[in-house]
Amino acid sequence: MEGVLKKFGLNTVCEAAVCPNQLECYNNKTATFMILGRSCTRNCTFCAVEKTKPDPVDAKEPLSVAKAVRELNLKHVVITSVTRDDLSDGGASHYVEVIEQIRHMDKNVIIEVLIPDLEGNEQALQKIVKAKPHIINHNIETVPRLYKDVRPMAIYERSLELLKNIKWMDSDIVSKSGMMVGLGEKEAEVYEVLEALRENGCDLLTIGQYLPPSKKHHPLIEYVHPDVFKRYYDYGMALGFSHVASSPFVRSSYHAADAYKHK
Ligand code: SF4
Ligand code: SF4
Repeated sequence: MEGVLKKFGLNTVCEAAVCPNQLECYNNKTATFMILGRSCTRNCTFCAVEKTKPDPVDAKEPLSVAKAVRELNLKHVVITSVTRDDLSDGGASHYVEVIEQIRHMDKNVIIEVLIPDLEGNEQALQKIVKAKPHIINHNIETVPRLYKDVRPMAIYERSLELLKNIKWMDSDIVSKSGMMVGLGEKEAEVYEVLEALRENGCDLLTIGQYLPPSKKHHPLIEYVHPDVFKRYYDYGMALGFSHVASSPFVRSSYHAADAYKHK
């Protein structure tokens, strides 16, 4: 994996975040690529991604990602990015090129995109929807009360709206969202978020334990008990999600291929 990434000059979240699930995911032929540079225009307090000047968009990146997917023989690829509020379409056309290049290289690869909120730009979302990835994921991350501390530049309702619009624009696309717990949320608030996600047509859900990347980041408020994760799972399934992954080690892309099978 390292050799292929180096050869094509690509970043994966798997490596950048030193994700503990790497071996398992690579064995399952899954990986998460991070496109559109290493620096984010937002300032989420839980996130370790750099927040300096945005990188220039690399026109060769879509083809490089596609070649890496082929070389690694991936069956399920997750494409994500930093948030690019500096670009007029938030990077949507770059996502489209990546999707098209991967599909051109191998039409059988399952393509999942984990996208930013595109500042609520519906035309930008429409571009991505029209490219027909199998899954569009947008993480709601936390409960609305904590947004100002955790995602100060995001808007809870805007994220819900984006999820609703995915299904409204193309009901065949599987929609997905995820959140972290242990940030100071109450159990009842999590249930309300799950209800709101379902009301906005969200199909798949992930819930995992927040772990602060450093002492400068949002503090860890609680290690959530496995029984609570189980209650979130039960509540989500009762609400009608097709698949819920809820346990401490769950990340957005963990067991992504399995989740898709339940669509
Ligand atoms: Fe990569 Fe996601 Fe798997 Fe971690 S869980 S190794 S980030 S695909
Ligand atoms: Fe990190 Fe995404 Fe927030 Fe940027 S928008 S700081 S990449 S979580």
